[in-house]
Amino acid sequence: MDQEERTRRAAQARSKAEELAGKGVTGVAVTWVDTSGITRVKAVPLARLPHAAAWGIGASPVFDAFLLDDSIVQGRFAGGPVGDLRLHPDLDRLAPLTALPGWAWAPADRFDQGGRPHPLDARHLLRREVRRLAADGFTVRAAFEVEWAASVGEGDDFTPACAGPAYGMTRLTERADYLRDIMEAVTAAGVTVVQIHPEYAAGQYEISVDVDTPVGAADTAVLVRETIRAVSLNHGLRSSFSPKVLAGGVGNGGHVHVSLWRDDVNLMSGGQGPYGLTSEGEAFTAGVLSHLPALLAVGAPSVASYLRLVPSHWAGAFACWGLENREAALRFVTGAAGERHHAANLEVKCFDQAANPYLALAALLATAHDGLTTGATLPPPVDADPATLDGPAPLPSSLEEALPPFTADPVLARAFGEAVIDTIATVRRGEIALFAGATPEEIAARIRWRH
Ligand code: GLU
Ligand code: MG
Repeated sequence: MDQEERTRRAAQARSKAEELAGKGVTGVAVTWVDTSGITRVKAVPLARLPHAAAWGIGASPVFDAFLLDDSIVQGRFAGGPVGDLRLHPDLDRLAPLTALPGWAWAPADRFDQGGRPHPLDARHLLRREVRRLAADGFTVRAAFEVEWAASVGEGDDFTPACAGPAYGMTRLTERADYLRDIMEAVTAAGVTVVQIHPEYAAGQYEISVDVDTPVGAADTAVLVRETIRAVSLNHGLRSSFSPKVLAGGVGNGGHVHVSLWRDDVNLMSGGQGPYGLTSEGEAFTAGVLSHLPALLAVGAPSVASYLRLVPSHWAGAFACWGLENREAALRFVTGAAGERHHAANLEVKCFDQAANPYLALAALLATAHDGLTTGATLPPPVDADPATLDGPAPLPSSLEEALPPFTADPVLARAFGEAVIDTIATVRRGEIALFAGATPEEIAARIRWRH
């Protein structure tokens, strides 16, 4: 970041601050997501935004080595008390948080004090994968689905905020003001809501939003979640985004939809391959499929993730793909006849919201890009519940099992580099140790309110 860029950012911040002041904003929350998927924050008064935009806000690099319970592990590349980074708010994403009156939000890019991107910054890593695809003429559109379970009261126990049946209109009626406030606050933050509905599990709801660039989609995942959290508290509720809210129940997924485009043409449709996939769309999908076990340490990164990732829970616990197959880790979606040219996409179901959305998408795109580079092809699709078949392999069933494929994956190693791989693995080992011997009930209770 040179002087000219700092000057440009300060000027942009001054004009944005003026606009936000008109909306009653006095503080800006600047967030980044750490290795264990927790959104961390530093906030500045609105008047300080131009300085923060130009020079960043100080923050320790130690957060790369934080576990979800706020303990810290010492890795080879992260974890020490020494050093400082600068959080630069991305002003193009600055948005008012109407559920937190007086506050606005912006995602941060983390730079070192010399103005160079921090090598472990997940937003930079994602941007790098996007650039690599762009160099080959490709763009990707993405969106995260946000599932959450709403609980009554302030205690740590989970008491469902609604009693109606799964997907039942009763659940909407019971919490009509709450759901409307969520839709309005998400919309006011500049995100297009596509759908909101009661989900399967106790107290569970889901919101879907419009597709965006990969970085935009990951930002939106953070913004939507923080908005839901704020609206929930305003209604005397707590929202859990944990992969497994109750040990016996259905979990919260963090499904991510991706589609591959070139020159504004959706390559997931209109081709000669299965269900209309083009050869590039197929290679993109096959790249992800062949690396699924390795991707889990990034996309399903907590001990609780493996309580969720079990058969018959629509979590996608098998390494296979299929058309509209909710038990396949990769659900291919064509959309309705007539709109397939823009609707067709790949839904990665095995990911959850303990994942850092930037890292999860970066890893996904790296493997998809490898599929494109090597011209990967897909095995036959699976059109039944994979649990009833001999073929499809179950995905790793614990974080311990997910780590070796991750640390051994050459594509992720090439994309991320040693410092990122080692730091992720160190944090995962730290959380495995943290929960050693814990029962599913204890794991669910200790992780329930963390993400
Ligand atoms: N809640 C399920 C999960 O854990 C997903 C349900 C659905 O298919 O939307 O991923
Ligand atoms: Mg759902």
